[in-house]
Amino acid sequence: MRIPMIAGNWKMNTTVAEAVALVKEMRPELDRIDNVDKVICPPFVSLAALRELLEGSSVKLGAQNLYFEEKGAYTGEISPLMLAELCQLVIIGHSERRQYFNETVELADKKVQAALKAGLKPILCIGETPRENDAGKTEEVLTRQLSLTSKQAYHTGLVLAYEPIWAIGTGKAATGQQANQTIGFIRRHILKQYGKEIAQSVRILYGGSVTADNIAEFIKQPEIDGALVGGASLKTSQFLGIVKQTSEIKRVK
Ligand code: PEP
Repeated sequence: MRIPMIAGNWKMNTTVAEAVALVKEMRPELDRIDNVDKVICPPFVSLAALRELLEGSSVKLGAQNLYFEEKGAYTGEISPLMLAELCQLVIIGHSERRQYFNETVELADKKVQAALKAGLKPILCIGETPRENDAGKTEEVLTRQLSLTSKQAYHTGLVLAYEPIWAIGTGKAATGQQANQTIGFIRRHILKQYGKEIAQSVRILYGGSVTADNIAEFIKQPEIDGALVGGASLKTSQFLGIVKQTSEIKRVK
């Protein structure tokens, strides 16, 4: 059984005071919802305050990025060791990092390995651009993006997020069926690479314009284990709606 996960990616939004206020508002309800791993990924600067606020809570914290070195002369970067004191998960290879900060498959993999070494669970994002999608290259792109991910990484609990770039922040989500089909492809690819046990246990989330109004369409699909949510994770009623529906729909009857 794969426990569903809903992770909120706050991106570069919220001051520390705003982050604290938002978590204070969400926490009581989130704590009442079981059967889902609930994750909030605020900007780095809010992690320490939110960690304190989430003491004893079932809500987990994640970072949005890290650098792969443990320490040293890397001005402006944040190391896995620093994060391991503050949070449990880390988003790696988000398409905005690949697009705006030129992050490569190789760099994303170094970050995955560094995260795992520090005891952080990576949420590795993969997905194709609109042009790659139009050219029918989705499977080729995803295969390349997964080419360096080791069996050990899956075994240690790496989570994948399939995020077609044309659906992120555009309000133009994929259909549930489309997302299920592509995530099914990803799972079959992992099956061929590393066998049944790994393929059946890896959690694969969908991401791209998920809201409380469309989450049900995704979460009822058998291959989809949850969602990475951007914009809607900053709105309490939206995020709670997404988490609640996920808990109910994925509950084993
Ligand atoms: C994301 O940031 O990973 C994302 C999917 O954003 P949005 O939900 O806003 O499309």
